[in-house]
Amino acid sequence: MRARLVWPPYPYRAGFCVTDDTDAATFEQVKAVYDFLASQGFRTTKTVWPFRPVDRCGIPPLPDSTLRGVTLEDPRYLDYCKALHAQGFEICLHGASAGNNPRARTQQALEFLERHLPGSDTFICHSKNADNIYWEHRIVSLPVLRRLVRRYSKHACSGENEASPYFWGDLCQRKINQIRLFRTRCRNTLQRNPSMPYFDRRKPYVNGWFSATKRRLSDCAEPRAVADLKRDYGLTVLYQYRHRYARPDTLALDPPFRDAIATLASDPEILIDTVSRLMRRLRLVQGLFLIYRRHQFWLVNTNDQDVPQVQVALSGRLSRVGGDAGAIICADRLVLPVIRASALVSVQTAEPLHFTGSRCKRLNRRQRGTFPTPRGTLLVNGSASPWRRGDGLTVAANAWSWEPPSSPADWTARSRLPIGEELGLTLDQIWIIAREILFKGRSLNPNVFLDDTKEIKLEDHNNW
Ligand SMILES: [Zn+2]
Repeated sequence: MRARLVWPPYPYRAGFCVTDDTDAATFEQVKAVYDFLASQGFRTTKTVWPFRPVDRCGIPPLPDSTLRGVTLEDPRYLDYCKALHAQGFEICLHGASAGNNPRARTQQALEFLERHLPGSDTFICHSKNADNIYWEHRIVSLPVLRRLVRRYSKHACSGENEASPYFWGDLCQRKINQIRLFRTRCRNTLQRNPSMPYFDRRKPYVNGWFSATKRRLSDCAEPRAVADLKRDYGLTVLYQYRHRYARPDTLALDPPFRDAIATLASDPEILIDTVSRLMRRLRLVQGLFLIYRRHQFWLVNTNDQDVPQVQVALSGRLSRVGGDAGAIICADRLVLPVIRASALVSVQTAEPLHFTGSRCKRLNRRQRGTFPTPRGTLLVNGSASPWRRGDGLTVAANAWSWEPPSSPADWTARSRLPIGEELGLTLDQIWIIAREILFKGRSLNPNVFLDDTKEIKLEDHNNW
């Protein structure tokens, strides 16, 4: 029987979150949309600008259409965001303002959010703001791709440059754990970016990066899409401008949007939550390692926190399960109610299991397993006798150890973006831009497609 460790906590089979950019939002539209989302229990992530812009967006500047949007300087809006926050919505920064933000302003914005709307460790860069970090051609790490992208990037973004007035890398490292980067059209974002949130050594000020899906919300709620997402234990991280689902004149909500929210919110197998909470779960699961041998497997929790409701997805039904993990059979899944911090637990199954996945490994005959990881080699000893190694390191019976031993809280070293995955994500991003240029009236020149003296076609989700 095939088996694989999956990320969602039981009873969920999939996850859904939204990064909602605040560009051009009005208080009235936001309220119309979020009153409805709150009524459906659809609590995800909304971005905000604490301050009105004092500078233009980008160097050289983009059209002033990029500066539109309500800010927390409007007391009605601040109160409303506080009410959303109290209901479990995540409120995160889209930068300090819609224009370029020097360091002091970004610092004030982070402090403002901590004081009024605390708890978010997610950040979303806005357009071509000069304070955007590792932006423009630095988005890609592969040297060949970087050279290619550099030919088309026209704006100076320098949030990571200590000599720049827009530098905030050190603040980012202390306060932010994930920033959105690549976009894909694939509804299951996690399928295209299974290593998210990931750390890129070439971008040390950013603790983690994640990707997002650029599509209409209703595309993701089609019955087929929902079934596929659950079958694959997927996660959608949707990139949106949700206030636009409320008409600016009447504030009536777009009917397909209402239906999509109702469909997703009423599905008991989809975990709808904020980006920060879902990324925290992905990180915890990145700290789980599994070794197996026919009728037995061992799970190691290398985190300094418990991991609740761990699931193993099965290709069939098990008849019996035993071991010290308290595992239970739930239809086509095996559920381990909690794996304690730093614990190694074992599970015996009546039928032999064959695991797939990057952090699962078949044991050798001595019941030992080694995992090379970015933070060192993980040694797991599933046998009843100690594992004495030539280098003097001993791994006790039924125990695990790092080699070299390292700090357990060092999670930044955990997940990396493999080259193939980066290439795929870069192609997805290029395809989105190419598709919009070929079929959706986008211009290669942002000054043309962001010109707000005309209708900006790509502001309509129906053109996505
Ligand atoms: Zn924006």
